Amino acid sequence: MIDYREKCIALLHERGVDIKDIADCARFLQADYHVDLKMEELLDSVYSVLSKREVQHAIITAIELDKLAENKVMDDKELEDILLRDEGLYGVDEVIAYGICNLYGSIALTNFGFIDKKKYGIIAKLNEEGKNTGRCNTFLDDIVGAIAASAASRFAHRWVK
Ligand code: MG
Repeated sequence: MIDYREKCIALLHERGVDIKDIADCARFLQADYHVDLKMEELLDSVYSVLSKREVQHAIITAIELDKLAENKVMDDKELEDILLRDEGLYGVDEVIAYGICNLYGSIALTNFGFIDKKKYGIIAKLNEEGKNTGRCNTFLDDIVGAIAASAASRFAHRWVK
């Protein structure tokens, strides 16, 4: 049987994203609310998010679309061009990201919007890399933001005072 979580971790890695980078984004999102945040706890939340099949399917689909555009093998050349330019009015990349966030409630959604605007850490790096380099990270940056936002939300919900 295929271990989809491992497959997703390998796919993310192949695209330049380490699980620790995502945990760091989750830590950034929670930093204002907790002193003494432990990286291991956030890493634990990231692994948990990555265990959900719906999340795994979103990651696999998103990365495949980026790669198809990047390798210029899409049937629809206009769509390929939209993805390569990361056109502002496209938005399907965010919709796939919401699909992940929706599994983790409203905190995940607001966190996603926040980190998407702030472009913290690995998300900033992916965003820059996607500009005029031939690299397509149109779906990946949102997927990474959504995983971080979901991990932060899971962490917040499990916090017992
Ligand atoms: Mg995007």
